[in-house]
Amino acid sequence: MELITREKHYNTLNNYYKNKYKQKVFKISLNGGFTCPNIDGTVASGGCTFCSWMGSGDFAGNKRDPLKKQFEEIKEKMHKKWREGLYIAYFQANTNTHAPLPRLKELYEEAITLDPNIVMLSIGTRPDSLPQDVVDYLGELNKRIDVQVELGLQTVHQKTSDLINRAHDLKSFDDAVYRLREKNIEVVVHIINGLPGETKEMMLDTIKHLNTLPIQGIKIHMLHLMEKTKMGYEYTQKPWPLLTLEEYVDIVVNQLRILDKNTIVHRVTGDAPTEMLIAPTWTRKKFVVSNEIDKLMRKLNAYQGDMYERKHHIEST
Ligand code: SF4
Repeated sequence: MELITREKHYNTLNNYYKNKYKQKVFKISLNGGFTCPNIDGTVASGGCTFCSWMGSGDFAGNKRDPLKKQFEEIKEKMHKKWREGLYIAYFQANTNTHAPLPRLKELYEEAITLDPNIVMLSIGTRPDSLPQDVVDYLGELNKRIDVQVELGLQTVHQKTSDLINRAHDLKSFDDAVYRLREKNIEVVVHIINGLPGETKEMMLDTIKHLNTLPIQGIKIHMLHLMEKTKMGYEYTQKPWPLLTLEEYVDIVVNQLRILDKNTIVHRVTGDAPTEMLIAPTWTRKKFVVSNEIDKLMRKLNAYQGDMYERKHHIEST
Protein backbone atom coordinates (compact mmCIF):
# COMPACT_ATOMS: atom_id res chain seq x y z
CA MET A 1 0.00 0.00 0.00
CA GLU A 2 1.38 3.37 -0.96
CA LEU A 3 0.21 6.46 0.90
CA ILE A 4 3.04 8.80 0.08
CA THR A 5 1.98 12.47 -0.16
CA ARG A 6 3.58 15.67 -1.36
CA GLU A 7 4.27 16.80 2.22
CA LYS A 8 5.54 13.49 3.55
CA HIS A 9 7.62 11.43 1.18
CA TYR A 10 7.05 8.26 3.16
CA ASN A 11 4.12 6.12 4.30
CA THR A 12 3.01 7.75 7.53
CA LEU A 13 1.03 6.05 10.23
CA ASN A 14 -1.60 8.79 10.20
CA ASN A 15 -2.35 8.21 6.54
CA TYR A 16 -2.39 4.47 7.05
CA TYR A 17 -4.95 4.65 9.87
CA LYS A 18 -7.02 7.30 8.10
CA ASN A 19 -7.13 5.10 5.05
CA LYS A 20 -7.91 1.96 7.04
CA TYR A 21 -10.36 3.26 9.66
CA LYS A 22 -11.52 6.53 7.99
CA GLN A 23 -11.06 8.36 11.30
CA LYS A 24 -8.40 9.60 13.67
CA VAL A 25 -7.07 6.68 15.74
CA PHE A 26 -5.36 7.06 19.14
CA LYS A 27 -3.12 4.62 20.88
CA ILE A 28 -4.01 4.25 24.55
CA SER A 29 -1.00 2.85 26.43
CA LEU A 30 -2.05 0.34 29.06
CA ASN A 31 0.14 -1.26 31.67
CA GLY A 32 -0.70 -4.91 32.32
CA GLY A 33 1.89 -5.23 35.08
CA PHE A 34 4.21 -7.41 32.99
CA THR A 35 7.91 -7.88 33.67
CA CYS A 36 10.55 -8.72 31.08
CA PRO A 37 12.35 -12.06 30.59
CA ASN A 38 15.52 -10.08 29.98
CA ILE A 39 15.20 -8.43 33.38
CA ASP A 40 13.72 -11.10 35.63
CA GLY A 41 16.26 -13.80 34.75
CA THR A 42 14.02 -15.95 32.53
CA VAL A 43 16.31 -15.28 29.56
CA ALA A 44 18.93 -13.01 31.11
CA SER A 45 19.11 -10.33 33.74
CA GLY A 46 19.86 -6.64 33.83
CA GLY A 47 17.77 -5.91 30.74
CA CYS A 48 18.81 -4.04 27.60
CA THR A 49 21.36 -1.49 28.72
CA PHE A 50 19.35 1.45 27.31
CA CYS A 51 16.06 0.37 28.91
CA SER A 52 14.53 2.52 31.63
CA TRP A 53 13.15 1.01 34.82
CA MET A 54 9.70 1.41 33.29
CA GLY A 55 10.57 -1.21 30.67
CA SER A 56 10.57 1.31 27.82
CA GLY A 57 6.91 2.05 28.47
CA ASP A 58 7.54 5.47 29.85
CA PHE A 59 4.15 6.88 28.89
CA ALA A 60 1.96 3.92 29.82
CA GLY A 61 -0.75 3.90 32.49
CA ASN A 62 -0.12 3.05 36.14
CA LYS A 63 0.16 -0.73 36.57
CA ARG A 64 -1.54 -0.57 39.96
CA ASP A 65 -4.73 0.79 38.41
CA PRO A 66 -7.33 -1.44 36.78
CA LEU A 67 -7.21 -1.36 32.96
CA LYS A 68 -10.52 0.48 32.82
CA LYS A 69 -9.21 3.34 34.95
CA GLN A 70 -5.97 3.57 32.95
CA PHE A 71 -7.93 3.58 29.73
CA GLU A 72 -10.41 6.27 30.79
CA GLU A 73 -7.70 8.58 32.13
CA ILE A 74 -5.57 8.43 28.99
CA LYS A 75 -8.60 8.64 26.73
CA GLU A 76 -9.70 11.83 28.48
CA LYS A 77 -6.25 13.38 27.96
CA MET A 78 -6.30 12.44 24.27
CA HIS A 79 -9.69 14.05 23.81
CA LYS A 80 -8.33 17.36 25.05
CA LYS A 81 -6.35 17.42 21.80
CA TRP A 82 -8.77 15.69 19.44
CA ARG A 83 -12.53 15.62 19.85
CA GLU A 84 -13.25 12.37 18.09
CA GLY A 85 -11.46 9.18 17.28
CA LEU A 86 -11.17 5.43 17.52
CA TYR A 87 -8.80 3.66 19.90
CA ILE A 88 -6.01 1.14 19.92
CA ALA A 89 -5.53 -0.68 23.22
CA TYR A 90 -1.75 -0.73 23.47
CA PHE A 91 0.25 -2.88 25.87
CA GLN A 92 3.58 -1.13 25.73
CA ALA A 93 5.63 -1.38 28.94
CA ASN A 94 7.98 -4.35 29.35
CA THR A 95 7.25 -7.65 27.54
CA ASN A 96 3.52 -7.94 27.09
CA THR A 97 3.37 -11.64 26.27
CA HIS A 98 5.51 -12.66 29.24
CA ALA A 99 2.82 -14.48 31.24
CA PRO A 100 0.98 -17.80 31.05
CA LEU A 101 -1.62 -17.97 28.29
CA PRO A 102 -4.68 -17.86 30.63
CA ARG A 103 -3.44 -14.58 32.14
CA LEU A 104 -2.79 -13.12 28.67
CA LYS A 105 -6.27 -14.12 27.56
CA GLU A 106 -7.81 -12.48 30.60
CA LEU A 107 -5.96 -9.20 30.01
CA TYR A 108 -6.38 -8.99 26.26
CA GLU A 109 -10.07 -9.95 26.34
CA GLU A 110 -10.67 -7.27 28.95
CA ALA A 111 -8.68 -4.69 26.98
CA ILE A 112 -10.60 -5.12 23.73
CA THR A 113 -13.94 -4.68 25.49
CA LEU A 114 -13.01 -1.54 27.43
CA ASP A 115 -14.74 0.62 24.84
CA PRO A 116 -16.82 -0.09 21.73
CA ASN A 117 -14.55 2.23 19.74
CA ILE A 118 -11.47 0.06 20.23
CA VAL A 119 -10.45 -1.15 16.77
CA MET A 120 -7.12 -2.75 17.46
CA LEU A 121 -5.07 -4.52 20.10
CA SER A 122 -1.38 -3.67 19.90
CA ILE A 123 1.14 -5.67 21.91
CA GLY A 124 4.81 -4.81 22.40
CA THR A 125 7.03 -7.80 23.02
CA ARG A 126 10.34 -9.60 22.45
CA PRO A 127 10.81 -12.17 19.68
CA ASP A 128 11.75 -14.88 22.20
CA SER A 129 8.58 -14.38 24.21
CA LEU A 130 6.11 -15.73 21.69
CA PRO A 131 5.48 -19.43 22.35
CA GLN A 132 3.35 -21.11 19.71
CA ASP A 133 0.23 -21.36 21.93
CA VAL A 134 0.33 -17.57 22.36
CA VAL A 135 0.80 -17.01 18.62
CA ASP A 136 -2.11 -19.41 17.91
CA TYR A 137 -4.34 -17.54 20.34
CA LEU A 138 -3.35 -14.15 18.86
CA GLY A 139 -4.24 -15.59 15.46
CA GLU A 140 -7.73 -16.47 16.76
CA LEU A 141 -8.10 -13.04 18.35
CA ASN A 142 -7.03 -11.43 15.07
CA LYS A 143 -10.20 -12.83 13.49
CA ARG A 144 -12.28 -10.81 15.98
CA ILE A 145 -10.26 -7.59 16.16
CA ASP A 146 -7.12 -6.34 14.41
CA VAL A 147 -4.05 -7.50 16.31
CA GLN A 148 -0.69 -5.85 15.88
CA VAL A 149 2.53 -7.07 17.46
CA GLU A 150 5.44 -4.69 17.99
CA LEU A 151 8.70 -6.59 18.03
CA GLY A 152 11.92 -5.14 19.39
CA LEU A 153 14.95 -5.79 17.20
CA GLN A 154 17.03 -2.60 17.50
CA THR A 155 19.83 -3.85 15.23
CA VAL A 156 20.65 -6.83 13.02
CA HIS A 157 24.25 -6.83 14.21
CA GLN A 158 24.93 -9.49 16.80
CA LYS A 159 27.96 -7.69 18.18
CA THR A 160 25.88 -4.61 18.99
CA SER A 161 23.01 -6.75 20.20
CA ASP A 162 25.35 -8.49 22.66
CA LEU A 163 26.87 -5.18 23.74
CA ILE A 164 23.45 -3.80 24.68
CA ASN A 165 22.39 -7.12 26.24
CA ARG A 166 19.41 -7.85 24.00
CA ALA A 167 19.86 -11.55 24.79
CA HIS A 168 18.31 -12.90 21.59
CA ASP A 169 19.67 -13.47 18.11
CA LEU A 170 18.51 -12.47 14.65
CA LYS A 171 17.26 -15.98 13.88
CA SER A 172 14.83 -15.85 16.78
CA PHE A 173 13.57 -12.47 15.52
CA ASP A 174 13.10 -13.70 11.93
CA ASP A 175 11.35 -16.81 13.19
CA ALA A 176 8.91 -14.74 15.30
CA VAL A 177 8.07 -12.55 12.28
CA TYR A 178 7.26 -15.58 10.11
CA ARG A 179 5.18 -17.29 12.79
CA LEU A 180 3.12 -14.12 13.38
CA ARG A 181 2.62 -13.61 9.66
CA GLU A 182 1.36 -17.18 9.30
CA LYS A 183 -1.54 -15.98 11.46
CA ASN A 184 -1.87 -12.78 9.43
CA ILE A 185 -0.88 -10.62 12.39
CA GLU A 186 0.49 -7.18 11.60
CA VAL A 187 4.16 -6.90 12.62
CA VAL A 188 5.81 -3.59 13.51
CA VAL A 189 9.55 -3.58 14.22
CA HIS A 190 11.47 -1.26 16.55
CA ILE A 191 14.97 -0.25 15.58
CA ILE A 192 17.43 2.16 17.21
CA ASN A 193 19.92 4.36 15.39
CA GLY A 194 23.10 5.55 17.06
CA LEU A 195 23.84 2.43 19.11
CA PRO A 196 27.46 2.33 20.34
CA GLY A 197 29.94 1.27 17.65
CA GLU A 198 27.42 1.31 14.79
CA THR A 199 28.29 3.03 11.52
CA LYS A 200 25.78 4.45 9.04
CA GLU A 201 26.35 1.34 6.86
CA MET A 202 25.46 -0.92 9.78
CA MET A 203 22.24 1.01 10.39
CA LEU A 204 21.37 0.70 6.71
CA ASP A 205 22.03 -3.06 6.96
CA THR A 206 19.25 -3.29 9.53
CA ILE A 207 16.78 -1.87 6.99
CA LYS A 208 18.10 -4.09 4.19
CA HIS A 209 17.47 -7.14 6.31
CA LEU A 210 13.98 -5.99 7.29
CA ASN A 211 13.20 -5.60 3.58
CA THR A 212 13.63 -9.37 3.26
CA LEU A 213 10.92 -10.05 5.84
CA PRO A 214 7.12 -9.81 5.53
CA ILE A 215 6.77 -6.97 8.06
CA GLN A 216 4.13 -4.24 7.88
CA GLY A 217 5.58 -1.38 9.91
CA ILE A 218 8.69 0.13 11.41
CA LYS A 219 9.45 2.45 14.31
CA ILE A 220 12.79 4.22 13.95
CA HIS A 221 14.26 5.69 17.13
CA MET A 222 17.36 7.62 18.05
CA LEU A 223 19.21 6.14 20.99
CA HIS A 224 18.18 7.97 24.16
CA LEU A 225 20.53 7.89 27.09
CA MET A 226 18.39 8.00 30.18
CA GLU A 227 18.86 8.33 33.91
CA LYS A 228 18.82 5.06 35.87
CA THR A 229 19.88 2.97 32.89
CA LYS A 230 23.13 1.06 32.54
CA MET A 231 24.04 2.79 29.31
CA GLY A 232 23.14 6.19 30.73
CA TYR A 233 25.46 5.52 33.67
CA GLU A 234 28.28 4.38 31.36
CA TYR A 235 27.84 7.53 29.31
CA THR A 236 28.01 9.87 32.30
CA GLN A 237 31.19 8.11 33.46
CA LYS A 238 32.87 8.22 30.05
CA PRO A 239 30.90 10.06 27.35
CA TRP A 240 31.30 9.01 23.73
CA PRO A 241 30.29 10.93 20.61
CA LEU A 242 26.58 10.60 19.83
CA LEU A 243 24.90 11.28 16.51
CA THR A 244 24.18 14.94 15.86
CA LEU A 245 20.76 15.97 14.59
CA GLU A 246 22.22 16.43 11.08
CA GLU A 247 23.81 12.96 11.11
CA TYR A 248 20.61 11.37 12.39
CA VAL A 249 18.49 13.09 9.72
CA ASP A 250 20.90 11.97 6.99
CA ILE A 251 20.80 8.35 8.23
CA VAL A 252 17.01 8.23 8.52
CA VAL A 253 16.55 9.73 5.04
CA ASN A 254 18.90 7.09 3.63
CA GLN A 255 17.08 4.37 5.54
CA LEU A 256 13.72 5.54 4.20
CA ARG A 257 15.08 5.63 0.66
CA ILE A 258 16.11 1.96 0.79
CA LEU A 259 13.06 0.84 2.80
CA ASP A 260 10.36 -1.17 1.04
CA LYS A 261 7.80 1.43 -0.07
CA ASN A 262 4.93 -0.65 1.34
CA THR A 263 6.22 -0.58 4.91
CA ILE A 264 4.33 1.86 7.12
CA VAL A 265 6.63 4.23 9.00
CA HIS A 266 5.18 4.54 12.50
CA ARG A 267 7.94 6.78 13.80
CA VAL A 268 11.04 8.53 12.57
CA THR A 269 12.10 9.58 16.04
CA GLY A 270 11.17 8.65 19.57
CA ASP A 271 10.59 10.47 22.81
CA ALA A 272 11.86 9.99 26.32
CA PRO A 273 10.49 11.71 29.43
CA THR A 274 12.37 15.04 29.56
CA GLU A 275 13.32 14.68 33.21
CA MET A 276 15.00 11.32 32.53
CA LEU A 277 16.89 12.24 29.36
CA ILE A 278 20.66 12.66 29.67
CA ALA A 279 21.51 12.99 25.97
CA PRO A 280 21.21 13.83 23.13
CA THR A 281 19.11 16.86 24.04
CA TRP A 282 18.10 17.62 20.43
CA THR A 283 15.78 14.58 20.59
CA ARG A 284 13.47 16.64 22.85
CA LYS A 285 12.34 18.56 19.78
CA LYS A 286 10.54 15.73 18.07
CA PHE A 287 8.79 17.98 15.57
CA VAL A 288 12.08 19.61 14.58
CA VAL A 289 13.59 16.17 13.90
CA SER A 290 10.63 15.07 11.84
CA ASN A 291 10.54 18.42 9.94
CA GLU A 292 14.25 18.21 9.15
CA ILE A 293 13.71 14.71 7.72
CA ASP A 294 10.85 16.01 5.55
CA LYS A 295 12.91 19.00 4.44
CA LEU A 296 15.87 16.88 3.39
CA MET A 297 13.66 14.42 1.51
CA ARG A 298 12.01 17.25 -0.38
CA LYS A 299 15.35 18.92 -1.12
CA LEU A 300 16.76 15.68 -2.54
CA ASN A 301 13.45 14.82 -4.21
CA ALA A 302 13.82 11.57 -2.29
CA TYR A 303 10.97 9.12 -1.59
CA GLN A 304 10.56 6.04 0.54
CA GLY A 305 11.82 3.10 -1.46
CA ASP A 306 13.32 5.07 -4.36
CA MET A 307 16.65 3.35 -3.66
CA TYR A 308 15.12 0.11 -2.36
CA GLU A 309 17.70 -2.47 -1.34
CA ARG A 310 17.43 -5.82 0.37
CA LYS A 311 20.05 -8.16 1.67
CA HIS A 312 19.53 -11.63 3.12
CA HIS A 313 22.75 -12.32 4.85
CA ILE A 314 24.05 -9.56 7.05
CA GLU A 315 27.67 -10.13 7.97
CA SER A 316 27.94 -9.46 11.64
CA THR A 317 30.75 -7.01 12.26
S1 SF4 B 1 13.35 -6.36 26.05
FE1 SF4 B 1 12.26 -4.40 26.16
S2 SF4 B 1 11.49 -4.26 28.27
FE2 SF4 B 1 13.02 -5.89 28.22
S3 SF4 B 1 14.90 -4.91 28.87
FE3 SF4 B 1 14.87 -4.83 26.62
S4 SF4 B 1 13.88 -2.88 26.08
FE4 SF4 B 1 13.48 -3.27 28.26
